[in-house]
Amino acid sequence: MYQSSDPQRGRSPVASKSESPVSVIGAGIAGAWQALLFAQAGHTVTLHERSGSEMTQSTSHWAGGMLAPWCEAEASEPVIVRLGIRSLDLWRENFPQTPFNGSLVVAHARDRADFERFARLTSGHRRLDARGVSEIEPSLEGRFRDGLFYADEGHVEPRRVLPQLHARLAAAGGTIKFNSDPDPEDIDGIVIDCRGLAARDTQPELRGVKGEMIIVETSEVELSRPLRLIHPRWPLYVIPRGDGRFMLGATSIEAEDTGVSVRSALELLGAAYAVHPAFGEARIIEFGSGLRPAYPDNLPRIAVHNHKIEVNGLYRHGFLLAPALAELTLFYVERGVIDNEVMQCA
Ligand SMILES: Cc1cc2nc3c(=O)[nH]c(=O)nc-3n(C[C@H](O)[C@H](O)[C@H](O)COP(=O)(O)OP(=O)(O)OC[C@H]3O[C@@H](n4cnc5c(N)ncnc54)[C@H](O)[C@@H]3O)c2cc1C
Repeated sequence: MYQSSDPQRGRSPVASKSESPVSVIGAGIAGAWQALLFAQAGHTVTLHERSGSEMTQSTSHWAGGMLAPWCEAEASEPVIVRLGIRSLDLWRENFPQTPFNGSLVVAHARDRADFERFARLTSGHRRLDARGVSEIEPSLEGRFRDGLFYADEGHVEPRRVLPQLHARLAAAGGTIKFNSDPDPEDIDGIVIDCRGLAARDTQPELRGVKGEMIIVETSEVELSRPLRLIHPRWPLYVIPRGDGRFMLGATSIEAEDTGVSVRSALELLGAAYAVHPAFGEARIIEFGSGLRPAYPDNLPRIAVHNHKIEVNGLYRHGFLLAPALAELTLFYVERGVIDNEVMQCA
């Protein structure tokens, strides 16, 4: 499945399990998956996180948590789809309770051309007519003439799944240290740097891409899966969070402040109202934003410098890509396998 320079005769393994402990810096989605897969493979793992267990300083705290490789093909390179599809398997294996009940894409009649473009650029979907849309999402009855249903996609709730990953790490024999900000130079063994945007001190090409989101609550709309509304100016997704809560997201702005602008709030709320007027009566629970860590090409990267490995640039796909990136790092460390599309070896 993975491209490699030559998996059989690739580089020598970096370390054996017994000789080199593994320290992962940063317990966001990238670091949590790295730590988990290394611990499950029998390595001695410590995961360090500078903030407390509530993780509000991580971008991952603010994410939608969609696991949508086929939808993302509309605006992403094929490598995102390839790694994303592998990640779905890893989510399924490790978290069998993850909802995999698909994603639904809809558009209003006036945005038909954009809807057809989205259909052309993506695969893995089935077309639904108005009846098909209301069969899978009864709340949307009479609202959309057609839809695209991506049946194999899933989603996780980041604020629930991060603590679950941390607990799973502990169960696999790993250690997690919150409020821990060690200097990598002081650590023996393999260091996997998953600090997200904070890694700019050593990787100045990283930038933050702001994503704003709003959480609302209403008992008048029910959705079973993430819904994307195609719109030329205000593309929106609505993700059900349970208990009548929905995340509305997300903007994508080349800015690094963490406020939510009036314009963005108006656009997100207006688009939600266009999905269903009952959102007009919903209660606003939370506004927030996170900075997606991105390299100039918006692609993820695993950069190896001897025993230090940087995993970063997960941009808008952290939940989608983190499991597959962790597996690639593990294969490199244990077997010397190199994935030419995402790995850089010094
Ligand atoms: C609004 C929004 C919606 C999104 N929706 C989706 C989505 O639906 N699906 C998807 O796949 N992705 C989504 N993303 C993208 C995803 O959130 C990011 O790609 C991902 O969170 C990046 O994860 P990370 O672990 O690299 O960084 P982070 O989550 O930022 O984690 C880095 C961690 O490192 C810690 N740290 C930093 N420095 C140190 C240090 N010196 N010592 C110890 N710890 C340190 C930080 O405190 C932080 O917890 C979304 C992003 C946003 C903003």
